[in-house]
Amino acid sequence: MNRCRTRVNDKSVGDATVDTGNVVEKSVQFRTRVPLVWKLRSRLSQNGRRRARRLADRFLWPIGSINGAVNSSNAVALTFDDGPDPSVTPRLLDLLGRRSVRATFFLLTNKVTLYPGLLRRMVDEGHEIALHGDCHDRFTSVQFCALSLRLRRAKRDLEGAVGGKIRFVRPPFGAQSLTTYFIARASGLDVVVWGPHAEDWVSQSPESAAARGLRDLQAGDILLLHDGSERPAGEPVLTFDRVRSFELILDGILHAGLRPTTVSEIIETGKARRTAWFRP
Ligand SMILES: [Zn+2]
Repeated sequence: MNRCRTRVNDKSVGDATVDTGNVVEKSVQFRTRVPLVWKLRSRLSQNGRRRARRLADRFLWPIGSINGAVNSSNAVALTFDDGPDPSVTPRLLDLLGRRSVRATFFLLTNKVTLYPGLLRRMVDEGHEIALHGDCHDRFTSVQFCALSLRLRRAKRDLEGAVGGKIRFVRPPFGAQSLTTYFIARASGLDVVVWGPHAEDWVSQSPESAAARGLRDLQAGDILLLHDGSERPAGEPVLTFDRVRSFELILDGILHAGLRPTTVSEIIETGKARRTAWFRP
C-alpha cells in the first residue's frame, strides 16, 4: 500500500514552499491545526521574531532541535534534502568528490528504494546519511501511532541499507509539533533543522541561489540545500542548474575561509546549538 498518496494543499515556510502539494494517506490524515504561538509569531516583525526565538531558546533548549553548532572552529554543515535524485545527485557527488568535501544527505526512503545505487555511492564516498522520511509527508499531518511506526520503520530500513546507525532526522517542510518531536526522539533520532538556505526550491539563476545561500552564512551554521525536488504533480520541474549553484556556494564558502563538512562533524568539533523549532 502506498502510504503517500492523497494530496493536501499546503503553503508554508522553508523547504515547504516547494511542496504545495504535500501528500498524505487519507486514513492517517487529519487537518493541520495552526497553533496559537504560530499565529502570534506571524504578527511579529523579523526582529521581533528573532528576539522571541532567542528568549524561547534560553528556556526551551531541552526540547530544542539542532540548528547549528557553537565553537565549531570554521566549519559549516552542508545538508541536502529530498534525494537521492538521478538527475542531480550523481553530478553533485562528482562535485563533492572533486573538492574532497563531505556532506549530510537527508534522504527519503521511498527514493532510496528506487535508487539504491546512489545511496551506496554516498556511503562509499564518505558522506553522512540521515533520514528525511519514508516520503515527503508533513509529520504534523500524520497521527501519533502511524508516525511512530513509520519513523521507526524508515530508520530501520535506512540503517539496513547503509549498514550503520542513523542519528538524525529532518522533518519535511520543517513541520514539527511537540508531539512529533518526542516521537522522533523516542525513535532514537535527533532532530536537525537549518539556518541559512539557498531557496533552491524556487526557479532562479544559479548565481542568485548561491548568493542567497551565502548571504548570512557563518561558522557553525547548517546550510539547507536540495538535491531532490518534491514538486507537486502538475507544477513545472526546476530547470535551473542546481549543481552549478552548489559549485558557486562551495567556492564562496572556501573563499570566506570556512570549511564545509557534515552535521556530525560540526557538533562533535564544537557543541550542538539547539532551538525551539515548532511550526505547523
Ligand atoms: Zn524536504
